[in-house]
Amino acid sequence: MPEITLQSKLPQVGTNIFSIMSALATRHGAINLSQGFPDFDAPRALLESLGKQVMDGHNQYAPLAGMPALREKIAAQILRYRGVSCNPESEITVVPGATEAIYCAITACINPGDEVIVFDPCYDCYEPAVTLAGGNTLHIPLTPECFSIDWNRVESNISPRCRMIIINSPHNPSGSTLAHADLLELQRLAEQHNLLVVSDEVYEHLVFDNAQHHSVLQYPALRERSFAIYSFGKTFSVTGWKTGYCVAPPHLTAEMRKVHQYVAFVAVTPIQLAIAEFIENEPSYAGTLASFYQSKRDLFCTALKRSRFKLTPSAGTYFQVLDYGAISSELDTTLAEHWTCEHKLASIPMSVFSAEPTAQTQLRFCFAKNDEVLLKAADILCKL
Ligand code: PMP
Ligand code: GLN
Repeated sequence: MPEITLQSKLPQVGTNIFSIMSALATRHGAINLSQGFPDFDAPRALLESLGKQVMDGHNQYAPLAGMPALREKIAAQILRYRGVSCNPESEITVVPGATEAIYCAITACINPGDEVIVFDPCYDCYEPAVTLAGGNTLHIPLTPECFSIDWNRVESNISPRCRMIIINSPHNPSGSTLAHADLLELQRLAEQHNLLVVSDEVYEHLVFDNAQHHSVLQYPALRERSFAIYSFGKTFSVTGWKTGYCVAPPHLTAEMRKVHQYVAFVAVTPIQLAIAEFIENEPSYAGTLASFYQSKRDLFCTALKRSRFKLTPSAGTYFQVLDYGAISSELDTTLAEHWTCEHKLASIPMSVFSAEPTAQTQLRFCFAKNDEVLLKAADILCKL
């Protein structure tokens, strides 16, 4: 029998860098600061609640938009942390992970030939969704030193075919954040050119040095054209639970749900109930994350003071970028692999997040780890 032939719809796409580096770390027994996930557990009460929900029989399909109890808690959290009211019925959709919501929002809105602006270095799941919808991704580099958006450059790149801008703040992989002035610029351009916005805010609670997170939900003209997307995986240290939510105005939510119901249909019922119960009992938990992760960032960066790496402490997320220019001139992809095998420390090469080759010598390290692990990793780095 002849082998069936397939014309790939994603010919440029291979296995993602996070899976590759985590597998390499496991194979070589390396400390894994590559893929972004905590090496500590979620709050005990949350874990116990999940067990209870399962044993209490909450094991059948949830409503399409999510369990009402959880959507109400999400609305209360948005009001508490962002000062904005959202309708849990028509504006909030619980999803099986932020990745699914991003895919559904893009699929619902992008038609063949539409252009979507993304910023490089760019988180990996945006472009494939645009490609599968028949759209074209326009990559605009962030400024090299501080990873900020050059809005003049954005404005001069907006064509009549442009339909959407995707932003991500706090930003993975760089750890930079967008300021109030950035959101105002985005709002001005989005209104002027009638653009949709996907705002990936999965690290909303991980903003350091007493700075504020600025959400598209807080800007009325942006809110009416945006999908704001969140992940409980980050907020509650349960990345493996793959549960998040999407906030969008009713007409956008309705279109996004049409896709969601045929991609996943619903998110996992007992997980939704456990998160709802946890938020009910500990509504201020998310507010404790910034100082918790800031101490980890500071521990890691301070321990690296005697190293040869150049760094600017992250403004947000649980990632720290290190510049190894003073140590090696190897490609970051080669070096990340080499250090995993030889020095037993895994990281993520930054160049894989950019469409155009860059001359950078940077690696991304995840500091959502126990302090001993961070100190051990810093020890290895200081010897390089
Ligand atoms: N966006 C960004 C920027 C992320 O870092 C992640 C997490 N890995 C996601 C989206 C996806 O989150 P989830 O695991 O909830 O799909
Ligand atoms: N978002 C996580 C990171 O940046 C990984 C998610 C994944 O493995 N797809 O490392």
